[in-house]
Amino acid sequence: MQPIRPIIPNSPPKKPHTMIEIKGIKKSFGDLQVLKGIDLTINKGEIVSIVGPSGAGKTTLLQIIGTLDKPDNGRITIDGTDISSMNKKQLSEFRNKHIGFVFQFHQLLPEFNALENVMIPAFIAGASHSEAKKRAEELLDFMGLSDRANHKPNELSGGEKQRVAVARALVNHPDVILADEPSGSLDTKNKTELHQLFFDLRDKFGQTFVIVTHDESLATITDRTIHLRDGEIEHPEETTENTEQQEQDKQ
Ligand code: ADP
Ligand code: MG
Repeated sequence: MQPIRPIIPNSPPKKPHTMIEIKGIKKSFGDLQVLKGIDLTINKGEIVSIVGPSGAGKTTLLQIIGTLDKPDNGRITIDGTDISSMNKKQLSEFRNKHIGFVFQFHQLLPEFNALENVMIPAFIAGASHSEAKKRAEELLDFMGLSDRANHKPNELSGGEKQRVAVARALVNHPDVILADEPSGSLDTKNKTELHQLFFDLRDKFGQTFVIVTHDESLATITDRTIHLRDGEIEHPEETTENTEQQEQDKQ
């Protein structure tokens, strides 16, 4: 009789690799306290969605994780590096190498074609022309966009532009991809394709994704959903239990 489960050789249980660790993050704009003490740990290769009503602080939290904004209090560590005490120059270098952003609106540069748009962050990081081109071509190929590489943004569909924006976010092989309502401007078909792409990329490159979304269909398929309301994570104890359970289930 065939065993129901394949026999797995004895190996030590995998310890999760912490990619993002956030402790006690607070942020105010004037009198308005937007983040009231956020604690959150995200493992390498996790796809986490952040949901919550408009004004809850989702974008602010994502910008702080992405080093684009500074918290008033608290600490953020990304892959073991404490970014809280870095100066502006160190932060922009760190961001360029380790973090990729995808926004709701693609923010591609209109005067450059798709290939060039993807190459630009690689140049900024010091890659040679041939290296940048090679990486950009590979990514566009992976996204099924090879035949669109020489087209400028105004010659691409909404879905294509957003996939080019994802390729641009990936060109420096960042550890973390941060996306703020990335499918907010797409129709259902393109939305589904973009969401599938995030999972394909995680499976291929092992990247960590934090995605702010209003899209229920995306939130439900991510590994974990963080509910943000009035600057606080709702039910943090339940979130932790779910994660531990998921880790146990994986082992
Ligand atoms: P969400 O993305 O969840 O809709 P945001 O993080 O964009 O929420 O904003 C949270 C609150 O902080 C909102 O009330 C918003 O108006 C305010 N806010 C965000 N950025 C700034 C800023 N730079 N200056 C002043 N207020 C801001
Ligand atoms: Mg927002």
